[in-house]
Amino acid sequence: EDALGRPVIRQLDDAAINRIAAGEVVERPASAVKELVENALDAGATRIEVAYADGGKTLIRVTDDGCGIAPDDLPLALSRHATSKIDGSDLLDIHTFGFRGEALPSLGSVGRLTITSRADGFDAATIRVAGGAPTPVKPAALSGGTVVELRDLFFATPARLKFMRTDRAEAQAITDVIKRLAMAEPHVGFTLRDVSGGGEGRVTFRADPETGDMFDALAGRLGSILGREFTENAIPIDAERDGLRLTGYAALPTYSRGAAVAQFLFVNGRPVKDKLLTGALRAAYFDFLSRDRHPAAALFVTCDPHLVDVNVHPAKSEVRFRDPGIARGLIVSGLRHALANAGHRASTTVAG
Ligand code: ADP
Ligand code: MG
Repeated sequence: EDALGRPVIRQLDDAAINRIAAGEVVERPASAVKELVENALDAGATRIEVAYADGGKTLIRVTDDGCGIAPDDLPLALSRHATSKIDGSDLLDIHTFGFRGEALPSLGSVGRLTITSRADGFDAATIRVAGGAPTPVKPAALSGGTVVELRDLFFATPARLKFMRTDRAEAQAITDVIKRLAMAEPHVGFTLRDVSGGGEGRVTFRADPETGDMFDALAGRLGSILGREFTENAIPIDAERDGLRLTGYAALPTYSRGAAVAQFLFVNGRPVKDKLLTGALRAAYFDFLSRDRHPAAALFVTCDPHLVDVNVHPAKSEVRFRDPGIARGLIVSGLRHALANAGHRASTTVAG
């Protein structure tokens, strides 16, 4: 207030701005893992290792063999709205998971963040930030790629800390994030380790050798994530309509579940939780399943990025199709054809 009791408008400092943004981007440890693994994938990594302790509350460490970050770029990586992924001229022309330049500054404002990286032709370097301004860049030892370590998530925002669930529940959410991203990237090897005292969990998804076709690679990865039972009971889907393509595997109605727990939907390689798409999935099985059963499927919609807007929410798990009717129709008709033909297993590839 000023002397007359009127409210004054003031500019917030960077730390406060970043903490506010972090509220949207980083809901829980699993959201931090999602942002860091997506960064590793955007960097072209072929092997990604994720270690966490205490459900990710005290430690999340993501190690990749991607392109790395040059020492001079490290401070930029931590500054808001700085990104190497778009130039801002066409917000629909998005080919990467990231593009908002928000994740690292957000994480550095609510936890203790250290980035160590080595780009081709540069020496390794490290930078650190914990709620305030980053430290100067220092030399480090690393043979290649990037290691991002996030300790004590939400230490700077105790209110958010109170909303954390048990270590077990947070660890489960981290595992789910890794599984979804691993489904989308069968050619990348993933390792997830719980390094808490007494923690023993370890999950590994080996990289597909990139020799076979796309369906073989996907089936292999889905088998290791969802179990052989899923792949043995699922049919390959391949349909197309008006520039949108639908691929993936959908389980036979006999392999349905009592809850919608095995539905994995992707748009241009991005895991999404989208009402339009889940509604279409449900509609497709309508004639094949009783009301209390839910289909199991891993489905990938791919299209020209201009046909879908991914910039709907900071976490980017929602999308907006330019023509929602086409997306829905593709899923409904593509799956119905495949399910109807499932008896004649020889001809399971369907043209929408
Ligand atoms: P965005 O992913 O939206 O660009 P981030 O805050 O997540 O924003 O990352 C900022 C920048 O830091 C990225 O654009 C990228 O250039 C760099 N970066 C982040 N993580 C990695 C990584 N694992 N490997 C290489 N570069 C990275
Ligand atoms: Mg990012």
